[in-house]
Amino acid sequence: MPGRRCSACAERWSVLTATTEPLAKWTTLRLGGPARSFERALTRDALYAAVAACDDAEIPVLILGGGSNLVVADEGFDGTVVQVANQGIVTGGDQCSGAEMTAEAGEDWDSLVARTVAEDMVGVEALSGIPGTVGAVPIQNVGAYGQEVSETIAQVHVFDRWERRARTLFAADCGFGYRSSIFKREPDHYVVGAVTFQFRLGDLGAPVRYGELARSLGIGEGQRAPLADVRSAVLALRSAKGMVLDDDDRDTWSAGSFFTNPFVKPQVLPSGAPRWPQPDGTVKTSAAWLIEQSGFAKGYGTDHVRLSSKHTLALTNRGTASTADLLALAAEIRDAVRRRFGITLVPEPTCIGCSI
Ligand SMILES: Cc1cc2nc3c(=O)[nH]c(=O)nc-3n(C[C@H](O)[C@H](O)[C@H](O)COP(=O)(O)OP(=O)(O)OC[C@H]3O[C@@H](n4cnc5c(N)ncnc54)[C@H](O)[C@@H]3O)c2cc1C
Repeated sequence: MPGRRCSACAERWSVLTATTEPLAKWTTLRLGGPARSFERALTRDALYAAVAACDDAEIPVLILGGGSNLVVADEGFDGTVVQVANQGIVTGGDQCSGAEMTAEAGEDWDSLVARTVAEDMVGVEALSGIPGTVGAVPIQNVGAYGQEVSETIAQVHVFDRWERRARTLFAADCGFGYRSSIFKREPDHYVVGAVTFQFRLGDLGAPVRYGELARSLGIGEGQRAPLADVRSAVLALRSAKGMVLDDDDRDTWSAGSFFTNPFVKPQVLPSGAPRWPQPDGTVKTSAAWLIEQSGFAKGYGTDHVRLSSKHTLALTNRGTASTADLLALAAEIRDAVRRRFGITLVPEPTCIGCSI
C-alpha cells in the first residue's frame, strides 16, 4: 500500500509498524494480536484517503481511535489498521447563540471536555473521564451520569465509503439512540473525520439527571451545579469505580462496561430489579444488577481475567490474559444471566475477529 502513494501523500502518513506489533499495544484491554499493516493518519484528508485506498484494494480496514471500546482477537486483524490522529479544534459563536466547536477526530475526548468546562461551555461535563477520541464519541453515542453526547452534537463530518465522498451529517441524520447510531449500525459505511458541537454558555452545568451524581454534589436531581464541580464529582465517582484509565490499576485495564443495559418487557423482571420505563412500554434495566443477581461478585474470575474489584460491569485483564480468556468469562456471565432471567446481555465494545 505505501508504495502506491505519491510523495505528498506519504508526508501525511507515517507507517508505524508492518506486521508483527500486537494491537494489544493500542487497546485499553491490552489485548489483541498483530495487524497485517498499521498506518497513522495525521490529517482528515489522509484519514479519508487511507481508508479509500484500502477499499479500492479490497483490504479490510480497522479504524482505530483510543482502542478503549475494542476487543481484538488473539489472532489479530488480517487487514490495515488506520489510526485516527488528526488534530485541531476551531471554536466560534457568541453569547446569544452559544459556542460552536469543531474538533478533529483524533483529538482526545477528555481534554476536549476539560476545555469546555474551563471555557464555560455547557453540555458534556458529565461525560468527563471517558477515554478515547473525539471521532469515536458519535459511534456509540457515549453517555454517562445522565448525559449523552448526542445532546450537544450538531454535525458529524464523515467520509462516506459507499458514496466515496466527504459529507456532513446533521445530528438528526445520525440515528442516535442508547449506545447506538448509524455509525455503529453500519460499521463499514462512515469514517468520522471531525465533529461539530453546539454548547450553551454559562458557568452552571446542565441539570443533573443522575441520582448518584446529584447526591455527591449535594443537590437534588434536576438542579444545577458549577461546571467545574460537576467535572470533579464525575471524575471522583468514576475513579472509585475504576472507570478512569490508570496504568497502575489493573481494574482499569478494560473496555469500560462490557455489556449494555438491556431493554426488556416489564413483566420479565422480578420485583426489586432496577427499571427505567421507556416511551415504547419497555423498561431499561441494569446489566450490573442482573450479573450480580446471577452469582457474580466484583472480582469474580481468575488470575488472568476477572471482573473489576470496583465495578461488576467491567471485565479486566490482570496483565496475563488473552482475548480468549476474556471472551470465555464474558460468555460464562452472559449464559448465567440468560439461564436465570431469560435476558441475553449484548457486549458494548466492538469485537474484531472474535465474538462471544
Ligand atoms: C475505563 C473505561 C471507561 C469507559 N466509560 C465509558 C462511559 O462512561 N460511557 C461510554 O459511552 N463509553 C465508555 N467507555 C467506552 C469508550 O471509552 C468509548 O466508547 C469511546 O468513545 C471509544 O473511543 P476510542 O477512540 O477509544 O474508540 P476505539 O475503541 O478505538 O473504537 C471504537 C469503535 O469505533 C470505531 N471508530 C473509532 N474512531 C472512529 C472514526 N473516527 N470513524 C469511524 N469509526 C471509528 C472503531 O472502528 C471501533 O469500532 C469506557 C471505556 C473504558 C476503557
